[in-house]
Amino acid sequence: MRLNPILVVLCLLLVSTDCYPQGQKELPSADLIITNAYVVTMNEGKDIFPNGAVVVQGSRIVAVGGAEIARNFKAARTIDAQGGIVLPGMVNTHTHVSMTVFRGLADDVPDRLRRFIFPLEKMMVDRDLVYWGALHGSVEMVQAGVTTYADMYYFEDEVARAAKEIGIRALLGETVIGFPSPDAQTPAEGIEYARKFINAYKNDPLVTPALAPHAPYTLDAQQLRTVGEEARAMDVPVLIHLAETTREVETVRKLSGKTPVEYLDSVGLLDRRLLAAHCIYVTDSDIELLKTRGVGISHNVVSNIKSAKAVAPALRMFDLRLRIGLGTDGPMSGNTLDIIGQMGYVAKLHKLVNQDQTVMPAIKVVEMATIGGARALHMEDSIGSLEPGKLADVVIIDNDSVNMVPMYDVYSSLVYAANARDVRTTIIHGRIIMENRQMKTVDVEKIKAAVRSISKKIAAAAAKL
Ligand SMILES: [Zn+2]
Repeated sequence: MRLNPILVVLCLLLVSTDCYPQGQKELPSADLIITNAYVVTMNEGKDIFPNGAVVVQGSRIVAVGGAEIARNFKAARTIDAQGGIVLPGMVNTHTHVSMTVFRGLADDVPDRLRRFIFPLEKMMVDRDLVYWGALHGSVEMVQAGVTTYADMYYFEDEVARAAKEIGIRALLGETVIGFPSPDAQTPAEGIEYARKFINAYKNDPLVTPALAPHAPYTLDAQQLRTVGEEARAMDVPVLIHLAETTREVETVRKLSGKTPVEYLDSVGLLDRRLLAAHCIYVTDSDIELLKTRGVGISHNVVSNIKSAKAVAPALRMFDLRLRIGLGTDGPMSGNTLDIIGQMGYVAKLHKLVNQDQTVMPAIKVVEMATIGGARALHMEDSIGSLEPGKLADVVIIDNDSVNMVPMYDVYSSLVYAANARDVRTTIIHGRIIMENRQMKTVDVEKIKAAVRSISKKIAAAAAKL
């Protein structure tokens, strides 16, 4: 088809006039504007803009508000959210992402930790498994609107490599444990491994390296003290499992006469660097101590009830304004890595435990899933809510799927009706990582094939146990 040159010139004039009407040439430029959005900011005032917009420049949010703010910027790219919910990216405050390769193995079997997990980890965990497992699990999180996660495992440099490849934000703790592990024979070797990892990623925009002493009962007091000293010297966060089982409480009491929380305080680990997973068996004075010390807490309710433990006093901790967020735990314990799947359980279990249908309302649960998670990671100044100046970690959730219609209360819809597949688009650090359910940074089929291949070797090894 031949184009009429006069028509082409006319069309170009019309387009340019449309894009740059008079007086708008001086508008500040933006990289991305999300329009036609039901914006749920999760800021201090819990502001909502039912017909709103979010403006992103580089890695940061520069404006959030009603539809009119979009007119103040000249955008390189606009995404029409089609009325969908625009929420800060969710934070998974505790996982072992690479364990996706073990998901579903030996579920419902007694003492699976000692019978299956520890022996299989000893035999199978290497760089390759950690890398592919982390890629796979990170895809699952991005697809579910998780934009930041906290991880504790081995070969964390491989987890970091996977996180960077996908473009997801991660707080990664290299494990230090009192017996030979897949990447260190001793705690001293574990710290040495961590030191190299920390130096390699210290100033990375996406990855925050950390130390992860496994638990109060898998390291002795001196080893725990050493980890604390190293963390202070390197100025990095510390991740740990804490007050998770009655067995742990008994062991620590026999050892020290203290609760696990008091014990960690006595070895100098209870401070603002610490992110403690579980905190199920905590006393009132433990809760006060956790609050005073500014410790972050990860509430992993689905994993905890699947292993028939108990429900942590998360409502009390939230109401007392502790730094508490939601976590999935590893996929061998909790099976899934998405936070949307946790939210309904959190709301309902705390109602059941407290015998009160009014407690743990949906808005508190969404707070824990977003800004609460950011507080738990001590990262609330940069992520967790949609506010100018914060990093652009933003998700768009479809509210046109059958389960999301009608929508009277956005928090209720998110907590009681949404599922992970309702997440349509995920933006991390200003970069579109998934758009309209399509991953932009990695080949999902290739990752699944690698994980299936690793799982065949694991199944063969497990059959001999
Ligand atoms: Zn864990």
